[in-house]
Amino acid sequence: MQIQKPHPQLFSFEFYPPKTEEGAASLHAVRSQLAKLNPDFFSVTFGAGGSTRDKTFDTVIDIQAKGIAAAPHLSCVASTKANIRAILKDYLDHGISKIVALRGDLPSGMMSAGEFRYANELVEFIRQETGDHFQIHVAAYPEIHPQAANGNDDFKNFKRKVEAGADAAITQYFYNAEAYFYFVDRCAKNGVDIPIVPGIMPITQYTQLFRFSEMCGADIPRWMRKRLEGYGDDRAAIQAFGLELVTNLCQRLLDNGAPGLHFYTMNQAAPTVAILENLKL
Ligand code: FAD
Repeated sequence: MQIQKPHPQLFSFEFYPPKTEEGAASLHAVRSQLAKLNPDFFSVTFGAGGSTRDKTFDTVIDIQAKGIAAAPHLSCVASTKANIRAILKDYLDHGISKIVALRGDLPSGMMSAGEFRYANELVEFIRQETGDHFQIHVAAYPEIHPQAANGNDDFKNFKRKVEAGADAAITQYFYNAEAYFYFVDRCAKNGVDIPIVPGIMPITQYTQLFRFSEMCGADIPRWMRKRLEGYGDDRAAIQAFGLELVTNLCQRLLDNGAPGLHFYTMNQAAPTVAILENLKL
């Protein structure tokens, strides 16, 4: 197994932009709690096609104003160059220096009329327009992106994003640590030496987790699915099992050289805090 070059272990937390005032108030409280853990940055998702453009922007600017580095996600599907240029300018003008650059997924049935096909084109465009200003993170798929023809093509496509100028990658969440270690190994063997930060999805329930994992190509191992199903409506049992499982996963990743962890918080603090407390970080 290839151990990645030592980087200081960094933690980042991802939120989605709240839709309601109630959601915004709740996210404020969550952010304050997570800010105490001294994260490297908070990131905020972006609805493909620009559906959350203003709300992502407002959330990012608010985070930055509270003294924490904020990384907006930016997806390019169905977008024009003029659109992306305007968004980049807004972020530049507001002192934002990190971006998570993605293709995004359009809702089914919606056709893309955009000027970008894949995330590597977005990375290239950001570099053309803004030089080295932004630290660019891209997505990585240790368990293979669901639309990829095969693992080789998917890896080549990932490499294109790095060659276009990505500084770091955040993975889709996974529960098979081996998939991550093999991916990191493959990067090392192919001269890709950017940090590959594992994306971590805490487990708090399972119906939604199964549905979401099906869509995004994250494998829920059979034994794990059977254990979770066995708990039925017993939420406390699901959470206790999920906490133990994800803590062990994180510990193993960090022990074997992962450069940090990126938590998909789903706008909740408690599950992430519990994992980090267990890890004594
Ligand atoms: P790409 O890297 O473009 O890859 C997409 C597919 O196309 C892959 O199958 C790849 O193999 C293939 N491909 C790539 N380049 C080429 C090429 N040049 N030629 C042929 N095939 C190619 N979605 C959102 O809408 N908003 C978000 O905020 C968001 N945040 C995310 C954060 C993280 C950390 C991750 C892992 C995912 C996130 N997503 C988000 C989901 C993401 O948009 C989807 O997974 C999407 O399907 C792929 O995006 P990508 O940037 O990885 O695309």
